[in-house]
Amino acid sequence: MMALIDLRSDTVTHPTDEMRRAMAAAEVGDDVFGEDPTINALQERAAGLMGQEAGLLTASGTMSNLIAALAWCSRGDEMIMGQEAHMFWNESAGPTALAGAQIRLVPNDVNGRISAQDVAAAVRDSSNIHVPATTLVCLENTHNRCSGGVMTPQDTREVVDVAHAAGAAVHLDGARIFNAAVALEVPASELTKDVDDVSFCLSKALSCPVGSVLCGSEEFIGKARKWRKMVGGGMRQAGVLAAAGLVALDSMVERLADDHANARRLAAGLANIDGLTVDEDGIQTNIVIFEVDREKVGDAREVIAALREDGVLVSHSRDQALRMVTHRHITAGDVDEALSRVNGTVRRMAGAA
Ligand SMILES: *Cc1c(COP(=O)(O)O)cnc(C)c1O
Repeated sequence: MMALIDLRSDTVTHPTDEMRRAMAAAEVGDDVFGEDPTINALQERAAGLMGQEAGLLTASGTMSNLIAALAWCSRGDEMIMGQEAHMFWNESAGPTALAGAQIRLVPNDVNGRISAQDVAAAVRDSSNIHVPATTLVCLENTHNRCSGGVMTPQDTREVVDVAHAAGAAVHLDGARIFNAAVALEVPASELTKDVDDVSFCLSKALSCPVGSVLCGSEEFIGKARKWRKMVGGGMRQAGVLAAAGLVALDSMVERLADDHANARRLAAGLANIDGLTVDEDGIQTNIVIFEVDREKVGDAREVIAALREDGVLVSHSRDQALRMVTHRHITAGDVDEALSRVNGTVRRMAGAA
């Protein structure tokens, strides 16, 4: 049996031995009472890295995003986000269903950025009783559905200024914010200090088994703590999870540059396979989205199934677009082996087409 090369997501990464040792040895307490010293240390550390006052460990990025929507929006409010936002596509409509706020979409550019001009045009007139109040603008960095594209500190500030001028808060879905920071070679805080709150995932490329941290002002985190309790996210001796998070922040951030180099290597190889199209220069971090020619090769879902048989796991992005994500368990050698297998699959399907 040939070993599977799993490029579906960086969420497939396992905790390191160092994380497992730290988890076993973690000092813990009841976090609903605020008494878990390891969680408190992680939250403080995360807030510092984000340039924010306080942090809150949550079960997932989805839970963080939901808590942000609950904390900033009332029923009947409106939140603005990009048309490709994870919060819009992949969170089971939680922000709308549970926060009761509707979503107003603005365009994302190829790198996943939304423009200050589009946000300014979408903000509602607060004096008009016919329209919802714009209370939140959501950013995403890096951008999942836009091939891991990054927003710079400047891009971020421009949107924040427009949102604040309109009286709206800015939530940053920074599930992969450290990928953005490493790609731009700036401290993560440069990308997060100007927003009103930010969430990042420990459980993706940082290799932790579970968890996200939501960061913001003391006041915001106070509210978020109550919303987290309401949605069932008040955990107890979760310091065993936070211990892995502390190891991740110490040792898993700089190595993201390797994932980015492997993603570029992967994109360059895919670009050489007839029947596949990829914007090589658009690969800024660890996500590679590429198009499969339906006429030449076949339907995207059939390609995914055929690749699985040939030992390469990939995920579906949209229509004929597939997604590959590099991570800690993928070496440059694995990239080359994956490319060779993909080429074989595509040639076989093209021959049969
Ligand atoms: C993965 C992801 C989330 C959700 O995180 P989970 O921990 O899987 O719930 C939110 N936003 C973005 C951009 C993501 O990539």
